[in-house]
Amino acid sequence: MRSPILDYLDTIIEQTAHIESGALADYIPELAAADPDRVAVALCTVNGTVYASGDTDHEFSIQSMSKPFAYAQAIEDRGLKTVLRHIGVEPSGEAFNELSLDPQTGKPRNPMINAGAITTHALLKDDEESAVDRMLGLFSRLAERPIKVDEAVAASELATGDRNLGLAYLLHSSGALRQEPRTAVTGYIRQCAASVTVRDLALMAATLANGGVQPNTGERLFSRSGTRHLLSVMASCGMYDAAGDWLTTVGIPAKSGVAGGIIGVLPGQIGVAVFSPRLDPHGNSARGVEMMQLLSDDLGLHLMEAS
Ligand code: GLU
Repeated sequence: MRSPILDYLDTIIEQTAHIESGALADYIPELAAADPDRVAVALCTVNGTVYASGDTDHEFSIQSMSKPFAYAQAIEDRGLKTVLRHIGVEPSGEAFNELSLDPQTGKPRNPMINAGAITTHALLKDDEESAVDRMLGLFSRLAERPIKVDEAVAASELATGDRNLGLAYLLHSSGALRQEPRTAVTGYIRQCAASVTVRDLALMAATLANGGVQPNTGERLFSRSGTRHLLSVMASCGMYDAAGDWLTTVGIPAKSGVAGGIIGVLPGQIGVAVFSPRLDPHGNSARGVEMMQLLSDDLGLHLMEAS
């Protein structure tokens, strides 16, 4: 029998069908070629059951939704103290690609904006395999299928990556980034070009909801304390310069990506993922934000809601 949860997810898609505002990201030319009308939503419980509706098998690049997972991996690799020595945890209130560092410390303000994410990528251990291969291996274990780089997206962003390169040189001169800037940016861009579906993302988010343990395989990928730290940073910094608005309205730790995906995590309960490529002025999926708002309202997901 068809689950009523699937019927419910279909209504989320129907109720947001009128939202055609926003524009495709075009600073990465390959993203501007996306079909703007694709839409999908998925939800995964902490016991690993995935429910999905819409273009559920459509692949798109993970982009900034890779940042939380890279940050959690860097904490596993280097320990929280070391990671905090390189990257802060304060919301920046600025756009994702802002060319700025904390003036007091010379560090990136948080790991969810590009400056912090490039620094995070460079902190990943790469003695046995490259940091990118390690991230692809991690994504594959989280999603329970092989995750690969979309080479067209990676090449397109590498060809137009001047701003991220500029950031990396700034980070290198302040001492926050130890790696050669071009190497760090190339790795970071490939990490962002990993190709995923909403099903993959819902499972990945459910692992965070489950305290770092992949719900189906039972593999512990992140420590409990590292996961808690990460979710706190996602709650305060995950939605760029709309983070405060997001926390008060939708009210769950989340991260968006410029290809149009958003993941959300309700600790102890579910991981959710939505996809729709048109972005609002903050760089978050316009229809995706509405879908998340409906999920939060209907399912009572807001963290500050008295239960
Ligand atoms: N790779 C993208 C960039 O660095 C990620 C940005 C995003 O998804 O917000 O510009």
